[in-house]
Amino acid sequence: MLFSTQTFLVAGLSRSGIAAGEYLSSRGAKVYLYDDVDDENVRAAISRLEGAGCRQIPKDELPSCIEKCDVLVLSPGIPVDHSLPVAFKRAGKRIIGEAELGALALRSPCVAVTGTNGKTTTVTMLESIFRTAGINAVACGNVGKPLTSALAELNENSVAVVEISSFQLETLYSLKPHVSVVLNVTEDHLNRHYNMENYVYLKSRILKNSAESEYAVLNYDDPIVRTFAEKTKARVVWFSLHEQVDGGTLQEGSFCFRGEPVFRADELPVDGDHNRANALAAIVAAKLMGVGNASITAALKTFRGVKHRLEKIGTLNGVTFIDDSKATNVDSAIKAVESVKGESVLLVGGKDKGYSYEPLFEALKRSSVVHAVIYGENAFRVLNAAIKSGYTSVTLCRPFDLAVRVAYLSAKEGQNVLLSPASASFDAFSSYEERGNRFAELLELLRREKEGATLSAVRTEGRGEEGE
Ligand code: ADP
Repeated sequence: MLFSTQTFLVAGLSRSGIAAGEYLSSRGAKVYLYDDVDDENVRAAISRLEGAGCRQIPKDELPSCIEKCDVLVLSPGIPVDHSLPVAFKRAGKRIIGEAELGALALRSPCVAVTGTNGKTTTVTMLESIFRTAGINAVACGNVGKPLTSALAELNENSVAVVEISSFQLETLYSLKPHVSVVLNVTEDHLNRHYNMENYVYLKSRILKNSAESEYAVLNYDDPIVRTFAEKTKARVVWFSLHEQVDGGTLQEGSFCFRGEPVFRADELPVDGDHNRANALAAIVAAKLMGVGNASITAALKTFRGVKHRLEKIGTLNGVTFIDDSKATNVDSAIKAVESVKGESVLLVGGKDKGYSYEPLFEALKRSSVVHAVIYGENAFRVLNAAIKSGYTSVTLCRPFDLAVRVAYLSAKEGQNVLLSPASASFDAFSSYEERGNRFAELLELLRREKEGATLSAVRTEGRGEEGE
């Protein structure tokens, strides 16, 4: 792309929009900026980007701006059927994401990871494996560092470990990973992608550029991912916790690659079959990239997990608080209740994403969860699913702060309070991180209350009630 002759509109000014604006203006492109939202963060982004030569466009000037622009760089947060991309499409103009800009310029070998759950965990494992092997690897993409921001750290001898979400796949065309990993596909984001067919199709697009010389690492245990083998020219290498497939397997308690043991599965420090599956996927991808067993073993045996994913944050009166705020869909919450040791009081609820919560309550009946405290904007939908499933040990308590307190008071010594909400956080928080951090703050407030201080600082009104 010849930047100096092109005019871009960057729409959506959060992390990837800022990165795209900076990337484009530093390459001599003319860049306009737009965001529907006018808050402190967006204003800060605009002033930073205006300093780099970009120009903000007010809403009433959008129609003329569309005429002037050649390319729309759309934030993954904005759906492709929003009126702005629709207008660009009608005008016959190009629509890409920030990840596409990065993909067009990427010269490093690339391992790309997608799936409904486990992407960040697997990408973090892989980055650590490569670095342990002395290879400059950079975790980027949806994991936090936008791909265009990672480019400066990458060269032909580095590895880009790129996390790719379904939102990014809507506007990503040119990424050509040497190894593509697909972890799983379960119900999520149906409010955005409308139906499972569309969501599954988007996930499969990660494989569409792969040639016969590249690899698709696919989860044999996931019936949807298994069908992706027919959708790619790449060589398929499977991983499975249950079957003896060609690729990554569990044999006699050890993680194996093509029959050769790598290390014992019980030496992986993070719990749960889902984490064993993530580790197996990372092992297969690393082996295909030529990394030796010693580096893989050293990295994974010291892997401590990622913040807000089944993270034990403290104990009060014998009750352990576990922050799994990143469990923003039903499958990840099911994995949490299946893998957490001991009895738990579950905190569930938040912003609805259009799927059914009944599978969660079916799983709760078979689990060591003794009680569910349901909170948040979707509380009545969640409660309805509990009733339909015949799971009756529930309390409904909409404000988050109060729900955490109720969960703590309901838990007996030796039990856990498990925040694994099966829902997005946007009803009351700006992100799952903010929700997890608030959970930790509440633990500290409860601790101080126990030590005699008042709890006046605990907010009991739900911000989500305002329909954020
Ligand atoms: P992602 O980046 O895909 O959102 P994360 O690694 O951040 O995945 O994990 C998100 C949530 O999903 C956490 O609650 C985590 O415990 C859970 N999880 C991690 N790996 C898996 C998996 N393979 N299958 C289901 N849930 C998983």
